[in-house]
Amino acid sequence: MSTLPYKDPYMDWTPFAQHGTGCKRVGWDVRQAKAEFTSGSREVAIRAICPEPGGGCGRVFEFHVSLAPDRDPETGDVRSGEAWSSGGVDKIGYGTKPQRIGDVWLHAGPPVVEWASEDGPEWWYVTRSAEPPTRHEDTLGKVFRLRRAGRQLKGRFGGGAGWERGKYYGMNLAETREDLPSRTAAARWVEQRAAELAAAAAAGGETS
Ligand SMILES: [Zn+2]
Repeated sequence: MSTLPYKDPYMDWTPFAQHGTGCKRVGWDVRQAKAEFTSGSREVAIRAICPEPGGGCGRVFEFHVSLAPDRDPETGDVRSGEAWSSGGVDKIGYGTKPQRIGDVWLHAGPPVVEWASEDGPEWWYVTRSAEPPTRHEDTLGKVFRLRRAGRQLKGRFGGGAGWERGKYYGMNLAETREDLPSRTAAARWVEQRAAELAAAAAAGGETS
């Protein structure tokens, strides 16, 4: 049985995240996410992000731990593991500059799926503020790209307006459509429809 090499409890702490040259931000946005699965597996991810708005360098560092109670039945390998990665915020959406369309802002949403990363984000949250949203209630809805079964991008965009609490899973978009001719048109539709839904809810909960 081998032993692990001696670790000095002071010296072996090493830098996790470092800003890019010329970065104007001092600190980091540090965010964490946890997930539990019915298989009994759990995942924890911690991200240190330097957002681009305000002169940040747009770097992101992630530490990811996955805990699984079992082994792969074929290879016998443990499924648990840990991984460290780094890159630019364009890969995750969060931390990129929000884009203004008329009176609303689009915030690229994580996750950008691996196979689409060269095409940019798959969807954007729509807000009335340039501040990145932290709750569904901060947003008017979503604009999303549409793909064919073979993953090719469609020429049209989708929009989702308003939120309602799902029966089983978190928050769902109250209304969606998939026939909008451009991302700008989708953002405008989300803005308008979310306002109509909010006005209808304020008038007594009926939507037309
Ligand atoms: Zn930075």
